[in-house]
Amino acid sequence: MTINRRGFLAGSAAAVAGAGLVRAAQAAPARIPPPPREAVLKLSSQLGLIPGKELPEKLAWMERAGFDAVEPHGNIIGQEKELLAALRNTKLKVSALCWGSAKGAIVSRDAATRADAVVQFKRAIDTAAELQSTGVIHVPAFSAETDRTNQEIREIVVDTLPAIGEYAVKAGTRVLLEPLNRKEAFFLRQVADGAAICRDCNSPGICLMADFYHMGVEETSCLGAILSGGAYLHHVHLASKTRVLPGQDAEEDEPRYLDGFRGLKLIGYQDYCSFECGCRGNREEEIPKSMAFLRRMWEQA
Ligand code: MG
Repeated sequence: MTINRRGFLAGSAAAVAGAGLVRAAQAAPARIPPPPREAVLKLSSQLGLIPGKELPEKLAWMERAGFDAVEPHGNIIGQEKELLAALRNTKLKVSALCWGSAKGAIVSRDAATRADAVVQFKRAIDTAAELQSTGVIHVPAFSAETDRTNQEIREIVVDTLPAIGEYAVKAGTRVLLEPLNRKEAFFLRQVADGAAICRDCNSPGICLMADFYHMGVEETSCLGAILSGGAYLHHVHLASKTRVLPGQDAEEDEPRYLDGFRGLKLIGYQDYCSFECGCRGNREEEIPKSMAFLRRMWEQA
């Protein structure tokens, strides 16, 4: 059936007649179902932030400070054994593997480059699986790495990722799309952008994360953003409004973290929240303060 503008307006007039019913429905309080499980706050960090020179020293510091996990960052393919050996002396787990974009190869205009990107992606998934990581963080391309349009990238991603997602599920891990901001990834700015790609991929291995720094740039509400990610969300990056430790921009951080943590509680979040940020001041003193800030926000949320 086709409908022209006149038909649409006539239909709209009929809809006005039912507006009373709509208003009555809107007056009812929104019902958000209870979370499937009680949410947990488990803290992790990338290693660059952590005091210490060598890996064992950094991991020992993290354990003393009360971290639950570590987030390996960069290309660590081939370094799995060293990390696993160092972790064996601690109670720390591996949260997500921050793998990045592989220079936008997965959306390249060259078919051979795209095919090789899939091979490399599967190697990163194998590494994540060996580390028992919760997922491989992935950005299909940073804005400067591609000349493709938003629509082209969406089509390639939805076409390519489901098979990679199936591979990840079989390996025992998952892919975690990371929404950034308009400067860094114009096609993947808001948590809802990532959630819509997950929905279209329709693979249990294609999931999502949220980053408090990027949410501060792009979202009108951290609560709304987290709810839009819902069950697809399996990792969170922590940072202040200016990308130092959470709490170091206290006046702006408090409402954002209360809002975002309320969202995590509402969805029954079970995965890690991981520091990806710099530090203003002495790290030995400031990181524990930031962890205390996060625990206070969690308690109050
Ligand atoms: Mg991030």
